[in-house]
This record gives sequence, C-alpha cells and structure tokens, in this order.
Amino acid sequence: MDLKSKIAIYPDFPKPGISFKDINSLIKDGEAFHEVTDQFYEIAKALDVNVVCIPEARGYIFGSALAYKLGVGLVPIRKPGKLPGEVMAKSYKLEYGENTVEIQKDAIKTGDRVLIIDDLLATGGTMKAAIDLVELLGGEVCGALFMIELTDLKGREALKDYYVRSLIQFP
Ligand code: 5GP
Repeated sequence: MDLKSKIAIYPDFPKPGISFKDINSLIKDGEAFHEVTDQFYEIAKALDVNVVCIPEARGYIFGSALAYKLGVGLVPIRKPGKLPGEVMAKSYKLEYGENTVEIQKDAIKTGDRVLIIDDLLATGGTMKAAIDLVELLGGEVCGALFMIELTDLKGREALKDYYVRSLIQFP
C-alpha cells in the first residue's frame, strides 16, 4: 500500500512557511492504519521491549495499537501539569522558544527495555527529550519509531546513538 499518498499536506499550518503533514487522513482509513500498525509490529517484535512510551498526543495513537499487538504496557509522556504524582521534567529548545515534557517517576523501572513511538520526526528535539526522561529513570531505549520522517531536518543526527526507523519519508 502507498502509505505516503494517505498523508494530507497542509501548507502554512500552523503558521506561514510550515508544510504540515496530517496523519488524520491516514488513520481514518482502516486498511492504512492496520498496515501501519503491522509494519511497526514487524520492526518492534525483534527489539524485545517490555514498555512502549508514547509522547502526547499523536504518539498515543500508534503506540496504543502497537503495545496491544506486542502485549506490553504503555507509558505516557505529557505536557507539564497533566500527570499526577511525582514527575520528572525535561525542557528542550524549539526553533522559537522552549518546550517541556514530563513523565511519572514510577513509570519506568531500572532495566526496562523501552520503545518510544511518535507520529513524526522533525528536528528530533521531542524524541531526544523523551529518551532523556526514560534514561534518567533507568530505562534502556531500544528504539525510536516514527510514522513520518522529515529528512531535510536531520533529526536522525540528534538521535544518532539510537536505533531509529520511520515508515515514510518526506524531504
Ligand atoms: P521535533 O521535535 O522532531 O522537531 O518535532 C516533532 C514533533 O512535532 C512531533 O511530536 C510531531 O507530532 C510534531 N510535528 C511537527 N511537525 C509536524 C507535522 O508536519 N505533522 C505532524 N503530524 N506533526 C508534526
């Protein structure tokens, strides 16, 4: 199946100059969503992970389906102030400004084998922050999976020490 053709592209969203890749047009197509989940599963089953970590919000979509197929649990990474209990926070730079993400401190145990999945790899800042949080809690990051990779933004370089896979690529 040509998964790339299922991604809708919106110029100048959310601001002028950004060409937004919309996964909603893919996930509403049942066959395409099934195919994507199967492809993620084929990659992930070799990694022997016991946790799938899901950055808010679109990581939830692919991560939930994948964790179900793998038979493992989910750990969310969220925007500040959303998670109860003790949390660990990590801030990272955006093109303009800064973002912070949080994880619950008891969500990862030392030695957990963790796969992190998100919809899109751009600069890699979001994924690197997620990786740092998992590692701060003693988890081992076995892979970073993405539906889409924007290759010109060279996010792989920020993740060069990790196993990175994407299902489709755009320049
Ligand atoms: P990065 O931190 O790698 O620069 O940006 C990746 C994050 O931004 C992902 O969590 C992703 O959801 C979001 N993102 C950035 N650009 C796009 C886009 O064109 N489409 C979608 N669906 N998400 C994007």
